[in-house]
Amino acid sequence: MKRAVVLGGSFAGLLAARVLSDFAEQVLIVEPDLLDADGTGPGAPHRRQLHALLAMGHTQIERLFPGITREMLRGGARLGEGDAVRFYVDGAKKASVADSRMLGATRPFVEAHVRRRVTALPEVAWEHATAKGLLLRGDRVVGVRLETARTATGGPDSVYELSADLVVDAMGRSSRLGGWLTELGWDAPPVDRMRVDLGYATARFARGSELPDTVIAHATPGPASAYLPTLCEPGALAAVEGDAWSVVLAGYAEHRPGRDRAQFLARMKRCVAPVREVAERCEMLGDVESFHFRESRRHRFTDLTRFPGGLVAIGDAMATVNPVYGQGLTLAALQASSLAVHLRSGASPHAPARGYFRRAGVVVDAAWQLSTTADLAQPHVTGPYPRGYRFLRWAGDRITTASVRDAEVNQAYMDVVHMRRHPKALTAPRVLARTARVLWRG
Ligand SMILES: Cc1cc2nc3c(=O)[nH]c(=O)nc-3n(C[C@H](O)[C@H](O)[C@H](O)COP(=O)(O)OP(=O)(O)OC[C@H]3O[C@@H](n4cnc5c(N)ncnc54)[C@H](O)[C@@H]3O)c2cc1C
Repeated sequence: MKRAVVLGGSFAGLLAARVLSDFAEQVLIVEPDLLDADGTGPGAPHRRQLHALLAMGHTQIERLFPGITREMLRGGARLGEGDAVRFYVDGAKKASVADSRMLGATRPFVEAHVRRRVTALPEVAWEHATAKGLLLRGDRVVGVRLETARTATGGPDSVYELSADLVVDAMGRSSRLGGWLTELGWDAPPVDRMRVDLGYATARFARGSELPDTVIAHATPGPASAYLPTLCEPGALAAVEGDAWSVVLAGYAEHRPGRDRAQFLARMKRCVAPVREVAERCEMLGDVESFHFRESRRHRFTDLTRFPGGLVAIGDAMATVNPVYGQGLTLAALQASSLAVHLRSGASPHAPARGYFRRAGVVVDAAWQLSTTADLAQPHVTGPYPRGYRFLRWAGDRITTASVRDAEVNQAYMDVVHMRRHPKALTAPRVLARTARVLWRG
């Protein structure tokens, strides 16, 4: 390829650009936000919320950028291993698993490191602009229409065109790709939606000598509370760069957390011990930032019988799932890996990218299955119900209960949570038999 154009320079766009730098002479990242200062531009305001990087996502990022973990640790991130990473259900700590390992860092910090590595690639350049549409010739996308970004001096000629061998939509949830396709006479991919009405709130605290052995603590409601916040407030904390704790609280519908500092602290005190301790001993730095996530959304590109060549979508532009399961960044990394496999197979970038959408669709479907099956336990979430839901719910409740007591069941559970295994691994006879034995023993 002479030129690949990536629309959107956030997490998914950066990973796509890294992959494309192996295949194209030039990779142009089109992004309207200037992300040099604190790395939280208006195009992706959810960056301010605490983001977990799942084990699979971390592995993929280290593979794409060898040595990046070491760089982040030098910059103040923490690496939690063993019992420094703790998961709780209904307030009870889950059984320890052998290979538990998670990074303690904020999303802007991780993204800044990725951005620096991508920007340093000789093939990569940035275009400070907003994408406005696709250029089509026959049945192939041959370029994009751009508009000079808001902060630059726009003028009557601020709309311009760029040719491309491959265009990547990494514009996140706000992508208008479906609309652009229909305007050009093509079908938009069908969209699955699940309304979850989730609220998130994140605050930063000064980190001192308290909790020296904790990097990540994560609490969710489970079967004992019918997945409601009655036994324990849902939330998480991470030891992050800048000697700080980042604390997130989550809640659905009328239980969505707000920005009030006193209420935030009061809710932290109803969470698990490490979160309580930070509320009691540490000073809050700055304001509470909140975010309202209304619905999960999956664009089913694989359902389309006709699709133009020279075009793919990645990250939230393809699917955006309930963030409480922390899958978004890892999903983007696995999609980037699918793109690399697709291009390495010798597929022409000018042809419809069916192989890519099929591969990426497998990971999207896995993430969708895990998150939507779990979300349906919430009384205000009313469907759609997948086939076999009653069995999945029944088995899921029991596996969750057993995972608190038993390391082997928890290992199987955490492999799925960290996206190292497909959710169907949880219904393998070995896991179900072990779960039955653990619950039988009481
Ligand atoms: C509250 C919340 C908490 C989350 N927590 C986690 C977590 O713990 N772990 C996890 O893995 N994931 C989490 N996620 C999901 C994660 O944030 C997303 O999956 C991730 O941001 C997707 O990256 P992206 O690059 O696809 O999209 P985005 O990060 O949304 O970026 C889209 C980019 O496209 C640009 N753009 C938009 N329109 C245009 C245009 N017309 N032209 C050019 N550029 C454009 C925007 O400026 C932006 O930079 C969370 C999400 C939310 C909402």
